[in-house]
Amino acid sequence: MKLVQNAQPAVAKYGGDIGTMLAGADMWMRTLKIGLPISMEHHRDYTMTGRADLYQKIDYPKPDGKISFDRLTNVAFSFTNHAEDQPNHLKVADLELQKESEYEVFGGPSTRYCPAGVYEWIEEEGKEPRFQINSQNCVHCKTCDIKDPNQNINWTTPEGGGGPNYPNM
Ligand code: SF4
Repeated sequence: MKLVQNAQPAVAKYGGDIGTMLAGADMWMRTLKIGLPISMEHHRDYTMTGRADLYQKIDYPKPDGKISFDRLTNVAFSFTNHAEDQPNHLKVADLELQKESEYEVFGGPSTRYCPAGVYEWIEEEGKEPRFQINSQNCVHCKTCDIKDPNQNINWTTPEGGGGPNYPNM
């Protein structure tokens, strides 16, 4: 791993052309045991999420039911199962922060990055938006723990035996 430790950060920081040349030079010098004694830092994923007002909203095409499927159908393929009465294993530390930042500033990315449709912002006329967590659908990928822009969601170990099963794999 020492050989390639600066490769991805160099490309991320300096772009494909210059970054690749720097990464190649660093790797080549490391094979000669004269690599620079520096370790470039990897970005933490959650720091790279931008404010929603700086981007155009993406209109994702609807699944066609033949080669693309909606998320809940895909969750069904995983045979995910949690006991109905088990405690929610997805902990939101501060619900007010979730509304003021994740929803109002970042546009609720949890509703899109979660592959299982666990998170929903329920908007009802005349009411404050409500954050709903459908934890029984969680396929335990841990994206929310890594990607939440405020590090406000904590994935914890669910009750024993709960989760995806993939019996046909
Ligand atoms: S761990 Fe993955 S599937 Fe579960 S809630 Fe987080 S993002 Fe969704």
